[in-house]
Formats: sequence, structure tokens, C-alpha cells
Amino acid sequence: MNGLSVPEKLSINKYELDESPHIKVDQEICRERCQNRVCLFICPAKVYNEQNGELAVDHAGCLECGTCLVACTQKAIDWQYPAGGFGIVYRNG
Ligand code: SF4
Repeated sequence: MNGLSVPEKLSINKYELDESPHIKVDQEICRERCQNRVCLFICPAKVYNEQNGELAVDHAGCLECGTCLVACTQKAIDWQYPAGGFGIVYRNG
């Protein structure tokens, strides 16, 4: 296991998808106050992307690291842990 790259280790993880998203974005705050959309760059799972000028979230791949919640200084991101039994299951430490 130690010889694996980070992407290879991440691919071993298992996700129990909760259809109800645990990440929500306040589009109005994001559009009107955000200067840099730092979430596009800091998320290790690349969960955030832009679609037609709006911030889109693919919560299914979230690693639950909490980085985006801390990095969004405008508090446009509403982030909760997934409901019990859902979310990522780490299989490699
Ligand atoms: Fe990305 Fe971490 Fe935020 Fe999940 S918690 S969306 S992995 S930055």
C-alpha cells in the first residue's frame, strides 16, 4: 500500500452516497461578494466547478476535510457532515 500514489490511494476509498447534498452554496453571496472563488482551487477532490457563471458542487466526491468551509471567507458554503452511514469510508488510513 505504501508504494501507491495519492490518487491511487484515494481510488481505494468507498463512498456511500447520500442523495441529499451535505454541501450547499448560497449563490447570491458567492456571486456578489466572492472575489476569487478559492474553493475551485483548494478542494483536493475538485468537488467545485463553475457552470454558466454559477458555482456548482458535486458533493459525492467530498473527502470531508473541511477545507472549503474554512477557506470561504464570505460564508457562502453551508457544509455539514453527511448523514450517519453516508459519505466517505477511508480504506487506507
Ligand atoms: Fe473539497 Fe474538503 Fe470541502 Fe469536501 S470538505 S468539498 S473535499 S475542500
